[in-house]
Amino acid sequence: MKTKGLTTKERLAIRRVKMPELDAGQRNRNFQEVNLGLTENQAILEAQRCVQCKSKPCVGGCPVQIEIPQFINAIAEGDFSTAAFILQRDNALPAVCGRVCPQEIQCEAHCVLGQKGEPVAIGYLERFAADWALFHDSKPTVKEIPSLSKKNVAIIGCGPAGLTAAAELAVKGHAVTIFEALHDTGGVLRYGIPEFRLPKSIIDIEVSRLVNLGVVIECNVVVGKTVTISMLREEFDAIFVANGAGLPILLAIPGENLKGVYSANEYLTRVNLMGAGQSSDCATPIIRGNHVVVIGGGNTAMDCVRVARRLGADRAMLVYRRSEAEMPARIEEIKHAKEEGIEVIILTSPIEVLGDENGWTKGLRCQKMKLGEPDTSGRRKPVPIEGEIFDLDADVVINAVGTGANPLLTASEPELKLNKWKNIEVNGCGATSLDGVFAGGDIVRGGATVILAMGDGKQAASAMHDFLMNPRPCLSSPLSSDTQ
Ligand SMILES: Cc1cc2nc3c(=O)[nH]c(=O)nc-3n(C[C@H](O)[C@H](O)[C@H](O)COP(=O)(O)OP(=O)(O)OC[C@H]3O[C@@H](n4cnc5c(N)ncnc54)[C@H](O)[C@@H]3O)c2cc1C
Ligand code: SF4
Repeated sequence: MKTKGLTTKERLAIRRVKMPELDAGQRNRNFQEVNLGLTENQAILEAQRCVQCKSKPCVGGCPVQIEIPQFINAIAEGDFSTAAFILQRDNALPAVCGRVCPQEIQCEAHCVLGQKGEPVAIGYLERFAADWALFHDSKPTVKEIPSLSKKNVAIIGCGPAGLTAAAELAVKGHAVTIFEALHDTGGVLRYGIPEFRLPKSIIDIEVSRLVNLGVVIECNVVVGKTVTISMLREEFDAIFVANGAGLPILLAIPGENLKGVYSANEYLTRVNLMGAGQSSDCATPIIRGNHVVVIGGGNTAMDCVRVARRLGADRAMLVYRRSEAEMPARIEEIKHAKEEGIEVIILTSPIEVLGDENGWTKGLRCQKMKLGEPDTSGRRKPVPIEGEIFDLDADVVINAVGTGANPLLTASEPELKLNKWKNIEVNGCGATSLDGVFAGGDIVRGGATVILAMGDGKQAASAMHDFLMNPRPCLSSPLSSDTQ
């Protein structure tokens, strides 16, 4: 295969690669990964499409500023080890990001090839190079960790924000301990995102890279209960709070407490973290449901409805109050869900969960909607169509309309300034109102994305390093106002 010296015309003539995937009829009854990854030849060909723009607009679309043209060029030359090295240098979890990042609204949205045709498949290439490194000898990202700084850093939460901050601080020579409430690592990556999108083995390998850097992870520690931030401040020189936003927002409709109604977090945690429904000897129960209705239109809703289908639901339905164009879920997930037989019921809002005489869910009463004027989010507001009410049969209803900040940690630390959504307020470099305490990820932003949480972790780590080593430049900037 010709790898060098292609003209721009030759590059533009190459068609964007298609990701090989499991057949929909086969995969909708198991938890195997749907996307199968590119072959070496496919990756090289796709990488050759990149015209190596001098202005690198794709990099500007990446919250952790990966040197995208550089790693793509290395793939085009068949030097996968260098490609992986470049990725890992800027991104602690590249194999995760290559699978779950919404590239279509980030790096790929800025790719010049997208102006007249299809952008370079940056996400697929990222996954290819990161996976290659997982299973081959690759160049170590860090030759040598600098001599220890004698500074101790505590990180609260082992999700993407906490893991990224930990990696950045460890390579700067600080002693890092992560405190995690659950019994396993990864945060939403493990308990929220299902195996068929992000295998647990990938999380394990990426986390083990951090442990090899000397990061200590203490699971089963609930900060705010087992220990408090005040106690940690006595022992540690700086703290990064990255405890996510795991508190479900209630639907506030009648019947919400019936048996058979789950929050998305509970449903997914039972299946993803506890293995419910996937083997006969699992101790964690789950109501599988024959007719399952999931309420919401984001990635979480999509994950729930696809899990329900895999657990055996004959009818797995998604009820969303706007039209499909407004759905926040990744386009690829919507496509995959439909292929798997998911029914997407748009312009529909739940008004009551219906129960039988024993308190079990038997249906969902819905209101038909139409789109009105744009609201503050810029999306057209759903407006009820008078008199258009209908019932769906359902034995399980899952609420996936969103999550907010869990007050368990913040309530134990009244000095920590919060905004009106109860998220932690930070200044431009992630510093909170408490000296030496920084925060980032969903606990600051509200529910956002993996890569934004990682960007926060990276930025806060840099500010924490300054705080630990120098006079405190970042602390002079004021706290931001409401950040959500
Ligand atoms: C089902 C689902 C699917 C998603 N899909 C995508 C996707 O495809 N792409 C994407 O980019 N984003 C996706 N997201 C969003 C993304 O996962 C989050 O934005 C991201 O994980 C936030 O990272 P974080 O580190 O801030 O928090 P989290 O990932 O929530 O991690 C926080 C960690 O802190 C721990 N913790 C909480 N409280 C305490 C405490 N008091 N003491 C100690 N530890 C504590 C939690 O157990 C958790 O492990 C999805 C979210 C969900 C729920
Ligand atoms: S914008 Fe697209 S074509 Fe240009 S360097 Fe980035 S990936 Fe390559």
